Amino acid sequence: MSEALAIEIRDLEKSYGRVRALRGVNLEVQRGEIFAFLGPNGAGKTTTIRCMLDLIRPDRGLIRVLGIDPQRDPVAVRRRVGYLPGELHFDENLTVEGALRLFAAMRGHTVDWTYVRALAERLDLDLRPPIRNLSKGNKQKVGVIQALMHRPELLILDEPTLGLDPLMQREVLRLLREARAAGVTVFFSSHIMSEVEQVADRVGIIRQGVVVEVARTVELIRRAVRRVRVRFQAPVDPQPLTALPGVRLLRRENGDELLLQVEGAMDPFIKALAAFPVQDMETERPSLEEIFLAYYEPSPASQEEVRP
Ligand code: ATP
Repeated sequence: MSEALAIEIRDLEKSYGRVRALRGVNLEVQRGEIFAFLGPNGAGKTTTIRCMLDLIRPDRGLIRVLGIDPQRDPVAVRRRVGYLPGELHFDENLTVEGALRLFAAMRGHTVDWTYVRALAERLDLDLRPPIRNLSKGNKQKVGVIQALMHRPELLILDEPTLGLDPLMQREVLRLLREARAAGVTVFFSSHIMSEVEQVADRVGIIRQGVVVEVARTVELIRRAVRRVRVRFQAPVDPQPLTALPGVRLLRRENGDELLLQVEGAMDPFIKALAAFPVQDMETERPSLEEIFLAYYEPSPASQEEVRP
């Protein structure tokens, strides 16, 4: 395993009974980068993350977290990683400070309480009330603080801004950027494309248990994917167009209008279009969100596979 890697995953497979949650996940996260892990509901993000922490055992495959095999030394992984689970469970009777002290004690962390207080202040969180009195958003802040408080080398965060208001969301993103500036690696899952665009150096997209894309965020945005709306004089069969490499039919509208996505060069598409009775045409570049949505849509073939 290369020392440059914070996370290395090879051919990871995990089934829950008949559900094949992971079907051969491959992933490399470099040290010092912010890596966003994206995918639709049920794609396998949480399962992958839980395998990294040895909270569940994969059926097959290799995992190294900071060079450590989590199955052989889960304690070392948890000591060196800051982990925010998707659903964090607290003893509701403890105060916020009591809960944080318990997390620290359980994991053998030495915690600088001046730093904890500074984090709480930045997230506008009172350390005194009992957990049971906290709103969902404030509980999420406790989760973020417990992940950061021991200044780990690697942060693994399952939807870190879930339930936070926009100001607090921005503050958490700022904390992640500051962590990166201090040399920390950040791996986080998210459904919020705008935050991914703001902080992630690279993104990995998982779909139906397989990582289907890993790219630099800026590269994804730059990639020449256009949306083309074509109005024809009469309804047409789009097959000659969608048969071209990089061309996908997004929608048919009003019978005689097609919304297509064209990736790469436009020339072959325009030449093929010349054979049709075209009335009007508009092109636009989609947002990053739409780029991701294209990856999220299940292909007909892969839907077949998941049917029991
Ligand atoms: P989300 O964005 O909704 O959190 P996810 O990408 O984190 O989704 P996972 O929670 O890893 O997805 O789930 C992957 C698949 O495994 C899904 O089909 C899910 O229903 C299934 N699954 C997850 N946990 C279990 C479990 N404990 N028992 C049975 N099936 C499970």
